[in-house]
Amino acid sequence: MIKVRKHVRRIGRRLRGLERKLLVALLVLFLCVEWGPLNDERSRWGVVSGNPFVREVVLSFDDGPRDKGMPELLAVLRSLDVPGTFFLVGKFAERYGPITKTIDVAGHEIENHSYTHPQLYTLWVEKIMREAERCNEVMDALAIRIPRFLRPPGGGFNLKIFYAMRRMNMRMGLWSVNTADYTGRSAQQITADVLRAARPGSIVLMHSGVPSTVEALPMIVTTLRKRGYRFVTLQDLWNGGAI
Ligand SMILES: [Zn+2]
Repeated sequence: MIKVRKHVRRIGRRLRGLERKLLVALLVLFLCVEWGPLNDERSRWGVVSGNPFVREVVLSFDDGPRDKGMPELLAVLRSLDVPGTFFLVGKFAERYGPITKTIDVAGHEIENHSYTHPQLYTLWVEKIMREAERCNEVMDALAIRIPRFLRPPGGGFNLKIFYAMRRMNMRMGLWSVNTADYTGRSAQQITADVLRAARPGSIVLMHSGVPSTVEALPMIVTTLRKRGYRFVTLQDLWNGGAI
């Protein structure tokens, strides 16, 4: 340690005024290109909501695919002509391959919700990457477009997850409106909450296989459409300048 410090001091002494400034400038430039404002794509770590001036909303559904409740959910989305964004759990997607394929063929977007649905923030970076990779591999094997967004199970995240996503060239896909539909809330409660909270660029978090969500969707969609909203996938929201 002392040796390293001595070495650094010796280099510092050798670098005089201008050289030192040049080195700092290069370091700042590197950080700007790698992480900051000079690299628009890489500086975008993920998405919580979209452009606040564009009346677009994303309906996202976590934890699928399931054997129960999926046909009903897909049927209501089809009848409303609305694209959903499905954050699927890799091992379920593997188990219910044909259902997964049906979601894809129906024109919905499929994204990554890990392989086994663990609390990702408790894992090491390599394990986090493996969880995300295994889910992506399942989609690849089913000839589905490889997910670009990861939604961490339970919504908990930390720097390890950011780092893992960066290494995989993926982004975090979070939300701005939580319906808490998995807690046994009624369709009326879910509808009222979404209609009260929806703003331009909102990403609504719902879950697959919840009957009250299926029941709530027609009223949510028709009312928001009357207010001038359009329903898009997460990738479309991202392309349109999501923040
Ligand atoms: Zn989940």
